[in-house]
Amino acid sequence: MEKITLSKFSKEELCDYIVSQGEKKFRAEQIHSWIWAKNAKSFDDMTDVKKEFRQFLSENCQILDCKIKTRQISCDGTIKYLIEFKDGLCAETVLMRFDNRSNLSMCVSCQVGCKMGCKFCATGKNGFKRNLEANEIVSQILLAQNDTDLKITNVVFMGQGEPLDNFENIKKAIELINKNLQISIRRMTLSTSGIVPKIYELAKNDLIPTLAISLHAPNHEIREKIMPIEKKYNIEELKKALKEYNSATKDRITIEYILIGGLNDTKECALELIEFLKDIKCNINLIPYNPVDDGNGFKNQSKKIC
Ligand code: SF4
Repeated sequence: MEKITLSKFSKEELCDYIVSQGEKKFRAEQIHSWIWAKNAKSFDDMTDVKKEFRQFLSENCQILDCKIKTRQISCDGTIKYLIEFKDGLCAETVLMRFDNRSNLSMCVSCQVGCKMGCKFCATGKNGFKRNLEANEIVSQILLAQNDTDLKITNVVFMGQGEPLDNFENIKKAIELINKNLQISIRRMTLSTSGIVPKIYELAKNDLIPTLAISLHAPNHEIREKIMPIEKKYNIEELKKALKEYNSATKDRITIEYILIGGLNDTKECALELIEFLKDIKCNINLIPYNPVDDGNGFKNQSKKIC
């Protein structure tokens, strides 16, 4: 019989389940706290839950339905995990530590693969497998916390996949992260390639994260060469949506711009980008291109933008 995954439940659903097993409501509170606040790795960790009920939980339930398959630790402390989900598919998630800050940021994946096909991205090359469920998105954070015994403070939806192409699960994940992991919405950032109708919808959500836009070009012609989404939602439509997001949220948007040598890194491109963004409240994040070995012909930026 398949075990019941307790991290899938909202607090109310967990309470209903525990009570249906003949236990009191406070027991559900204890278990909820162990899963979400105290990094319990197994039911044996839940020392204030009576032994017989822990035994019942071990036999019939599991805390998470995915696991860490591999971990790579870099010299700056960043940890890259490969997470294996219940169907054997895997996605990466990254825990970023910054020596000079107390923040611990988690970059989570929202899909296995991606449909968007951005030409500079290795994930886009491998096609799309499936959306991750809200629980699978949030579990990436729980697994990293369990693995390190550290408390994640910030979440960025910038891993594999396009978050706004998995919108319902992303909205649920944002709510779970906010309510159960007690991470403020001010500490969440969602990065999109620019699915315009969903940007408008996100601006009306109860919980609105900081928005980051993968722009990577100052005009339609260049963007079309590297991002297929430009054919569906062009850069001018995107600009309107960004202005709307600005006025709905009063927040700055982060503009992500990968510098690809000779394509989008010229002085003319820089001036055009400034003009394009002049009415948008934003920060620009210039990112060196990390060459993908697939013969796309792209190279690192040729010179400094001035
Ligand atoms: S949307 Fe993001 S993950 Fe998907 S192909 Fe583009 S850059 Fe890669």
